[in-house]
Amino acid sequence: MSRDKLRALEELQKVDLQIRDLAQQAEKHPARLKQIETERNQARVALDAQRGRLADNERARRQNEQLLQLEKDKVRKWESRLSELKTPREYAALARELDIAKKTNQTAEEEIRRLSGEYEELKKGIADLEQALGEKEAVVQSEGKQIQDVLSGLQGQVQVLEKERDAVAASVDRSMLSRYERIRKQRGGLAVVPVVGMTCKGCQRNIPPQMANNLRTGNELLTCPNCHRFIYPAEAEAAAAPA
Ligand SMILES: [Zn+2]
Repeated sequence: MSRDKLRALEELQKVDLQIRDLAQQAEKHPARLKQIETERNQARVALDAQRGRLADNERARRQNEQLLQLEKDKVRKWESRLSELKTPREYAALARELDIAKKTNQTAEEEIRRLSGEYEELKKGIADLEQALGEKEAVVQSEGKQIQDVLSGLQGQVQVLEKERDAVAASVDRSMLSRYERIRKQRGGLAVVPVVGMTCKGCQRNIPPQMANNLRTGNELLTCPNCHRFIYPAEAEAAAAPA
């Protein structure tokens, strides 16, 4: 008699565990969505940073080119004036200035060359980062839709199971049902558990030997003295399994 009551409760627990499983699956999806969106945002930040470096590079090159232009004009002007100079001292002074200006030009030319090389690298980096961002955006697009589809699928399954649950719950003894609900909430979902040998599979602790004997005769509705879950002998489950 008590075995039948317990069996109805076990049925209910099966449905409840399925519902819980679906809810847990559903919970994972928003996290995944957030993850792929974060990856997309990171790709965007990396691309923006690289574009900033490219703009810096272009600015530095323009500045060096302007500097070079000015210095070249100066050199040309000074060189044309060299022949007009009257004293060796004036000549030597201007020649020294020219030397310095030419070195400045050389440095600017080297810097422009270096910046051009860097520019090519940065351009290539931008192309790679644009591609990476495109891929991440595609993932958000396609997977985001898939996630929505999966979620609505899960919702549909939960609705079906909840109807089933109502039907099963109707066949469960009222006072047992409220005890079941209470234990289920306190014990993370499992309220009906088998006892294997003398071990309660809910809490993994042994029940007293006398209780184990009573359990096997199957006339009493028993709960584990430690975790207070409803218990039944594992052999009963094994016997009922083929049906
Ligand atoms: Zn227990």
